[in-house]
Amino acid sequence: MQVQLAQELIATSAGTRAEEILRRCVHCGFCNATCPTFNLLGDELDGPRGRIYLIKGMFETNEVDEAARHHLDRCLTCRNCETTCPSGVEYGELVELGRNFIEESKPQSSLFETFLLLIVPHFRRLRWLVRVGRLFQWILAPSLRRLLQPLKSVVLNVEPVLGETKVTLLQGCVQRAMTPDVVAHLADLLRKQGIQVIVHDDEICCGGLHLHMGREEAAKQFMTTYLETLYDEEVDAYISTASGCGVTVKDYGRLVGESRAEQLAARTLDASEFLSDFSFKPHPNVKRVALHNPCTLQHGQRVHGLIEQILERAGYEILPVRDSHLCCGSAGSYSLLQPALSEQLLQRKVAALEETAPDVIATSNIGCQLHLAAGANVRVVHWLTLLN
Ligand code: SF4
Ligand code: SF4
Repeated sequence: MQVQLAQELIATSAGTRAEEILRRCVHCGFCNATCPTFNLLGDELDGPRGRIYLIKGMFETNEVDEAARHHLDRCLTCRNCETTCPSGVEYGELVELGRNFIEESKPQSSLFETFLLLIVPHFRRLRWLVRVGRLFQWILAPSLRRLLQPLKSVVLNVEPVLGETKVTLLQGCVQRAMTPDVVAHLADLLRKQGIQVIVHDDEICCGGLHLHMGREEAAKQFMTTYLETLYDEEVDAYISTASGCGVTVKDYGRLVGESRAEQLAARTLDASEFLSDFSFKPHPNVKRVALHNPCTLQHGQRVHGLIEQILERAGYEILPVRDSHLCCGSAGSYSLLQPALSEQLLQRKVAALEETAPDVIATSNIGCQLHLAAGANVRVVHWLTLLN
């Protein structure tokens, strides 16, 4: 694709990178076939190729286009489009550049977006709000009510064990507030294997939410603090239990751009990658599992088939789910900011999962877990809690 960057953007890193990615696109439109919003809305501008043209227009004119804001807001950032692109266009990075450009040139936050950014990345605020929200849930919109799961209190045991391997568990702010049992359960599993476990009480948000919403500067501040808090040369691996956080931390080398960030990113593994050679036992009352692989795991981190292998080895039957490459509509803050589209995607996903007649639906990201639980008749769990 020919690109004529606006004069003011020629020497900028964002302009240079956007041009590099845009030039790779050959307009073929193969990506539209796998785009959930294009499939739902049938509008070229709600597919990746159309959005790429809108981003190109902004970088060529150095002006914010309100149509671009609208259609980029409707993008899930699921990155399914990258899987069918023959030219290797890094759409996820390009849409991030487009959103940052819009937010820097012409910031526009709704009250609700400001509220989300103030609450969600801070797990104590979120936990407090959920408690209050449960008292007044009858006045809340359905999209907010689904966040109000009963809060669990758990015992997190990180007492030292004898083994030499040392890992840090990444908790994720929403998961830590809503389902702390996931990390507690993983800590127990690892300690039984003789692995030393570290959990940081002062862990903050990885910056993923701000990044997803085009707030690059704020995202980088979170990332720098996250790095300062968690980085330890002696740790063998950082294990992510929420794939939405894992996909961000694995990209710290590019996003933060210093050697410690590169090392943290290189040593960050999804829990399924770390556990791929371990064997576990199943729960006695669960046999049939319908697995929903989050976009942040299958398209973002490109981790495929490991959860299935671990669960099958443990004795579960993994059911084939149609359209398993499609997003469930959770997508970070998307379910709250685009409730109508998100709801349609949820209905489709739940139908595909439930038609397999599972005992449980399992997934590996807290956003998907809460979102699916709001629409499913079958219990939705984090896959790690199925391991004994
Ligand atoms: S990231 Fe997902 S929603 Fe956005 S353009 Fe690509 S496939 Fe479509
Ligand atoms: S598939 Fe790739 S090259 Fe083709 S239009 Fe989409 S992004 Fe461009």
